[in-house]
Amino acid sequence: MDKHTIALIAHDGKKDEMIVFCEQYRSILERFALIATGTTGGLIRDRVGLEITPLLSGPVGGDVQIASRVVEGNVAAVIFFVDQLDKHPHDPDIQTLLRLCNVHNIPLATNPATARLIIHGDF
Ligand code: PGA
Repeated sequence: MDKHTIALIAHDGKKDEMIVFCEQYRSILERFALIATGTTGGLIRDRVGLEITPLLSGPVGGDVQIASRVVEGNVAAVIFFVDQLDKHPHDPDIQTLLRLCNVHNIPLATNPATARLIIHGDF
């Protein structure tokens, strides 16, 4: 059976927390196929050593690429560390991704506390 896919995204102010999360849960995350927005994915690959497929960077369409995979039924969970204290030029894309996770009932963590609950969940 194909590995289930987890999508990982972190805004700039949350990238360090994403690295810590990935280091902490590496042994679970490596059981999944991982996709990410461009910068987040590159960091996870280089700093944590997890195998990951980086898509486009968020501001140039990466969130929309992940949203498209969610709609197609190809993502088991989305872990998206959102920085609520910053402005994002691609906010419409971010809202699209969050909205479509909810429309399609896909597990969605927008902070590390929820991500921990999801990662221990039953996939
Ligand atoms: P990035 O995109 O991983 O390319 O920085 C994340 C985002 O801002 O949505």
